[in-house]
Amino acid sequence: MQPGMRVAVPFGKSKIYTGIVYSVHQNDPPGYETKSIDQILDESPIITTNQLDHWEWMANYYMCTLGEVIRAALPSAFLLESETIITLAKSVEVDENDLTDEEFLLFEALQHQSSLHINDIRSILDRRNVVAVIQKLLNRGVVGVQEEIVEQYKPKLKRYIKLAPDYSEEESLRELLNSMSRAPKQRQVLMTLFMLSATEKNVDSILLQKKSESTSAVLKTLIEKGVLEEYYIQKDRFEYEGEAPSEVKKLTDAQQIALEEIQNSFAERDITLLHGITSSGKTEIYVKLIEEMLSNGRQILYMLPEIALTTQLISRLQKYFGEKIAVYHSRYSMNERVEVWNHVLHKKSKAKIVIGARSSLFLPFQNLGLVIIDEEHEPSFKQYNPAPRYHARDSAIVLANLHNAKVVLGSATPSLETYYNAVQNKYGLVVLKERFGKLQLPDIELVDIRDKLKRRLMTGHFSDRLLEEINTVLENEEQVILFQNRRGYSPVVECTTCGVSPQCPNCDVSLTHHKFKDELRCHYCGYTMAMLIACLACGSETLDSKGFGTEQIENELKELFPLKNIARMDQDTTKGKHAYAKLIERMEDQEIDILVGTQMLAKGLDFRSVSLVGVMNADNLLNFPDFRAHERSYQLLQQVSGRAGRTLKRGKVIIQSYNPYHQILKQVSENDYEAMYKEQTEERYQYKYPPHYRTIKITFRHRNFSTMQKASIWFGEVLQIQLKENVLGPVSPPVGRIRNEFISNILIKIPKQQSLQKTKEFVQKVIQRFNTVKEFSQVKIIVDVDNY
Ligand code: ADP
Ligand code: ZN
Ligand code: ZN
Repeated sequence: MQPGMRVAVPFGKSKIYTGIVYSVHQNDPPGYETKSIDQILDESPIITTNQLDHWEWMANYYMCTLGEVIRAALPSAFLLESETIITLAKSVEVDENDLTDEEFLLFEALQHQSSLHINDIRSILDRRNVVAVIQKLLNRGVVGVQEEIVEQYKPKLKRYIKLAPDYSEEESLRELLNSMSRAPKQRQVLMTLFMLSATEKNVDSILLQKKSESTSAVLKTLIEKGVLEEYYIQKDRFEYEGEAPSEVKKLTDAQQIALEEIQNSFAERDITLLHGITSSGKTEIYVKLIEEMLSNGRQILYMLPEIALTTQLISRLQKYFGEKIAVYHSRYSMNERVEVWNHVLHKKSKAKIVIGARSSLFLPFQNLGLVIIDEEHEPSFKQYNPAPRYHARDSAIVLANLHNAKVVLGSATPSLETYYNAVQNKYGLVVLKERFGKLQLPDIELVDIRDKLKRRLMTGHFSDRLLEEINTVLENEEQVILFQNRRGYSPVVECTTCGVSPQCPNCDVSLTHHKFKDELRCHYCGYTMAMLIACLACGSETLDSKGFGTEQIENELKELFPLKNIARMDQDTTKGKHAYAKLIERMEDQEIDILVGTQMLAKGLDFRSVSLVGVMNADNLLNFPDFRAHERSYQLLQQVSGRAGRTLKRGKVIIQSYNPYHQILKQVSENDYEAMYKEQTEERYQYKYPPHYRTIKITFRHRNFSTMQKASIWFGEVLQIQLKENVLGPVSPPVGRIRNEFISNILIKIPKQQSLQKTKEFVQKVIQRFNTVKEFSQVKIIVDVDNY
């Protein structure tokens, strides 16, 4: 037995759990009697010692248990327990002769019953220790662990048009054309088809229609007449189909210099920040670094924030590296995750490069050489719930260190923390200020909504300037992206007679009106009710909408541009299985003229024909009550702006605001990251926030307000004995009650010269004492280190 192997361990009379061997020793534990292990499940470790070290660091740093880290780290198929449900894997050819008697019994049972609990399997096999049998079948893909079924996205089929085989002879073709002299439109389609098929293997039906200035009806007629045939091909997205890898692009001079600077910086340090403006070609530089590392035979981890894990980037990298790429994502099926795990563990060539969201850093890397963290500033790298509440960027840096690997952090708008480390010379800093193709950065114009309102130049939520620009862009058949940082129709409904807004019964927050379903919804707990006709407080039928969200913008657009295709991208429209991928696809195919969305739009999307980006209202970003709000606003606005003008023509950005003289907006419009950094870090210094101080946030939750309050005050007072003025709170957050639990927060600020470890140990001690107070035993405590 070795550390990193799994064992089945008994609990109580009938329960079993999967345990991980952590260390092997001969000492009797004091105070309790040990049970013996049922079975050893692995022949060799499936978890490396590096992983165990890394996870222990995480548990310690983020103040949670090792078990919590392991739960987050392992695909649940690795952790069989009594409650696990076993099913037959779909579409697997099984040769029954290859199965042992017990395996066969189980296999047969599963053909009669679609799923079995481990305890059922015990009685079928008539023995206690069944995990090893199940595990063997799992490894061979015969059975699976029941999970929420997530189907892989099937890309949509694209329609293509060709000439019917009857007309492949020149003779018959000429006849056909002659016979069409009275149908000029049909003739035009045919002529265009010849022209297009000279250069293209498959002629896209939409392209054909556009180029021949025809309609789908004309195409349909020709197909019905048997002149044309339609056929469908799947647009290749997820599946790499093994075509020859394409040549890696040649770097531009500016990119080449940046690459060399990174390499030089690696000679001295392990971590380098690549601060490259949007569309400067950071990905191409990563590709070169990956190539180099591959030739050294080492593994590469390429991390992206959740939502940016677009098919766009994956297919781009697959074109270069083909099968060497594995994608690791919590939305993938269990089997796929287990497969990637095993490929990485056994250093298979199929998983030399892993692209993944934050959980990919838990994989069993053997000789990691390079970690790329793209869009390193993205807050979604931080996990909030459940524990471990880890920051994937910071944890990946520790992981890289365990492997002696290099780290590139890439961003157009680095986080203050990272930039601070670069300025302090802890990280190398490489700057790339030129867009690929020497494209200009978009021209950013600030529009004063207050002034426009006064001069009656607003139509709904659109200023005259924004409408002018939208019109121009649409005339040129280009696309528009509009950004509104709120979903729903109108966030708040208010009675104009008495001023009361309908509230969520479970949370201290106003309900949001969603017009499409005409309902009121709570964004914190999901509570919904039908939209009210009259005010619940005074009965007047004078309910009015305040504020505005993506849905309302979408509706206004539909009225303003009835002939255009308008779509919306937010949490509500991307809930469906592949809704997000489909929207991106429709956008790429130019089936959408105007896309309205929330910050989902900001991340790494690369659409060729978007030449205008509009920000409907910058104020609700800027006024968000959080010490990172200004930094976040800068990053978001800069990133959404970066979606404009990715072709030769200079893009245009219009930012509407009630406060166009805000420093952040000025810095965004001048693309002045350094000025933003300087001002924000000074402010953070003054108010004792990161990057100068570290923070630990402690949250208290309880259904009874006074218990919660007493508990948090007690805790705060004990902390203050040692940490003095660096303990803030307890204070109620803006939403002081969620799901019927009252909430309050304490923030601990830790100066750089104070030991982080000692402070955590002290907090840990206070928690232990807190847990001994009977009155507080039901109060939930959440500890969040480096909170976001
Ligand atoms: P970033 O990640 O910095 O925003 P990308 O790497 O996505 O930029 O590059 C922007 C666009 O420019 C992409 O479509 C990419 O294919 C193209 N591009 C960048 N560098 C090159 C190059 N050296 N040769 C050809 N195309 C390039
Ligand atoms: Zn009222
Ligand atoms: Zn609620």
